[in-house]
Amino acid sequence: MDLNIIHYPHPTLRHVSKPVKRVDAELRAMIARMFELMYEHQGVGLAANQVDLPYRLFVANPTGDPGDSEAEHVFINPVLRAGKGQAEGEEGCLSIPGVVGPVMRKAKITIEAYNLRGETFTGELDDLFARIVQHETDHLDGKLFIDRLTPAHTADLRGALEEFEIDFQSRRDCGELPTDAEIAARLVQLEQLRA
Ligand code: ZN
Repeated sequence: MDLNIIHYPHPTLRHVSKPVKRVDAELRAMIARMFELMYEHQGVGLAANQVDLPYRLFVANPTGDPGDSEAEHVFINPVLRAGKGQAEGEEGCLSIPGVVGPVMRKAKITIEAYNLRGETFTGELDDLFARIVQHETDHLDGKLFIDRLTPAHTADLRGALEEFEIDFQSRRDCGELPTDAEIAARLVQLEQLRA
């Protein structure tokens, strides 16, 4: 399966992902490809629905350094357990390249997830890593950082988002992109393969 990063307003970005039931070689290969794509695009996190997959997992490396494999983390079926404090910071997204805005997040969080070996782990995170994990967990619930902007910042970004919407529509008009119904059917099929 050839994976690529999809852009706003692709409907898979609004898909609420179901938990993954097993970790196998195929899933590990998808995850390895997700790390490659994340580094290729200078990202620090990438969720499965950003590569058009309906699986509840994301990859992250808060250093963004492909050489720093110790900082690489895979979060499978992540659940945010607790949060403390508030912090505002600029966010961007590989699915909305070039668009940034300030987002309020929890300053500290506790997250539980499975790793690549299928073992559970708990992370107590703050600063950038806490922000990445909240941004990526949002993706798995079909949410984007632009949904969390103040109305004034949303208005600021309206023009940029419209350009993405026009581009998406014109690609669809010339048959480069499947219809909403075709995308939904494919996601159901992929989910069933791993149910
Ligand atoms: Zn994102």
